Amino acid sequence: MPDLPIRPYERRPATCDPWDPRTVGVARDLARLIDAARAGTVVHHIGSTAVPGLPGKNVVDLAVEASPDEIPQVVEAACSLGFAPQAGPGAFPPARPLLWGTVLHEGAAFSVHLHVMPVGRGELTELLGFRDALRSDAALRDGYAAEKRRIVEGLAPSAGSARSVAPTYTMQRASFVDAALYRLGLRRPPSDPVDPIAPGATIGFLGGGQLGRMMALSARAMGYRVVALDPDPNCPTAAVADAIIVGRYDDADAARRLGQISDVVTYELEHVGIEAARAASEGAPLRPGLAALAATQDRLAERRFLSDIGEQTAPWREVRGVDEARAAARELGLPMRLKLPIGGYDGRSQLRVTNASAIEAAVLALGGGDGRPLLAEGEIDFAAELSVVIARGRDGRTLAFPISRNVHDAGVLAESVAPAPFPEPIGFVATEIGDWVARRLDLVGVMTAELFLARDGMLIVNELAPRVHNSGHWTIEGAATSQFEQHLRAILGLPLGSAAPHGTAAMVNLLGTGPDRPARLSGMERALADPGVHVHVYGKRRVFERRKMGHLTVVGADADAVLERARRARAELTWED
Ligand code: AMP
Repeated sequence: MPDLPIRPYERRPATCDPWDPRTVGVARDLARLIDAARAGTVVHHIGSTAVPGLPGKNVVDLAVEASPDEIPQVVEAACSLGFAPQAGPGAFPPARPLLWGTVLHEGAAFSVHLHVMPVGRGELTELLGFRDALRSDAALRDGYAAEKRRIVEGLAPSAGSARSVAPTYTMQRASFVDAALYRLGLRRPPSDPVDPIAPGATIGFLGGGQLGRMMALSARAMGYRVVALDPDPNCPTAAVADAIIVGRYDDADAARRLGQISDVVTYELEHVGIEAARAASEGAPLRPGLAALAATQDRLAERRFLSDIGEQTAPWREVRGVDEARAAARELGLPMRLKLPIGGYDGRSQLRVTNASAIEAAVLALGGGDGRPLLAEGEIDFAAELSVVIARGRDGRTLAFPISRNVHDAGVLAESVAPAPFPEPIGFVATEIGDWVARRLDLVGVMTAELFLARDGMLIVNELAPRVHNSGHWTIEGAATSQFEQHLRAILGLPLGSAAPHGTAAMVNLLGTGPDRPARLSGMERALADPGVHVHVYGKRRVFERRKMGHLTVVGADADAVLERARRARAELTWED
């Protein structure tokens, strides 16, 4: 075994020690070593040890920016010195790796974090800006030092190992840093900040489904008018809106009319045509904007966007035709998912391929026979699915609801529990991912990131939706502010509401059964026999197999108990023949 300069990393409890001037020497020596291992690698000293006089954990934070192609080379060079990629629950993904190790310097052992960041993220600029502000602004430095001391003192020693304390420390510190970044102008507010829009104004919705309906109920409660564009004059939003403009989701003329009579326009599904959305935005601000829509409505664009910003996705390939799909299967392995890039949701337009002989039929079934692009994706053997619903307001600050644990059935969400009963740092890291994505999308409003928790603890992004989401329905009864009201507050330029949960909520979907027929629900009185059960019915006139017809929510103390009660109530509800 060669004698490597970097030794294995050891986790230490969060402390707040005086600044150690030796950390500067550690950073300088390591920068030289890394440059020797890979010529031309520029290493920046960031974090608290780069600020003389600032107390902290004395972990030496280093940062390297690299293009996505260069990142593996930087990782290899660092590993040749003895660094190891961070592992365990909530680890930074390989697209934006964190390497760590311990170095002996002047008789002491120093923990080192080496952050490798994709270029163009803006992350390094922010970190260097904050470092320089701390170096030059004594009041900021003193404030930050006081905040760190306060956090460390507040961390009860009984809170356990360094592992459980670290995320709490990072989380609390992040909110101070976050506020400072906006104050210093280092973190940009949204590119189209808005003046607050007062009650009485009209909110235009592209789409009039159940999400629009629940958003309209909140809008009505707050005193706003609602107009929705939908092909169906009897859509779920119709019962609550002031008016419906009948038109397809890609009807630019209808969307333009919607924009002209609205003070702000939003969308309740990402499958509205880009041209229609653009036409609507000619008359009123569109929130979230066109960029968020474009990046999320095409699964291939979404995968590219996520890779560019350093988030982890399932391994994927763009495939045209059967031959390329076969080649992808060889590279990605089977089972593999084949997905239609545009227009697929709720598990529709995706097929699971388990053996090579089924590839051709799957490509043809998805309409990829004529060379139309499809997304081929390796299957993730996940421990759980979860989602983060996060709002970003006009000032740029983000606020996430507690994450939910979701269970899907054949691609359709079946149930959610929130706050998800996962050990930290899962919730913290998932929220950080949501925050990062929301800011990179320049979002104003609510968005949802659906994630897989892989068996090794890695969080993998499956899907983004720049809107309220089925997995956030629990917030109506389960949080201080519902996701629908939160979205409206954000797009209306109003302060965000508290996202604090009232307890643990379970939400189960009420799906249709049987053939297409008029929707008549029975069993309501039995479902509501449990006084903690809330039933939401979306008012769809027709029911058919697996159609989303409504949902039920129960809020209580224990995740298993609330889920059981919600399921029991749902079992009482049936669709009449
Ligand atoms: P989607 O329509 O892509 O959100 O997929 C719906 C559901 O299908 C997901 O929530 C997962 O349960 C499952 N799924 C989709 N893609 C994958 C994948 N690459 N690996 C494993 N499960 C997947």
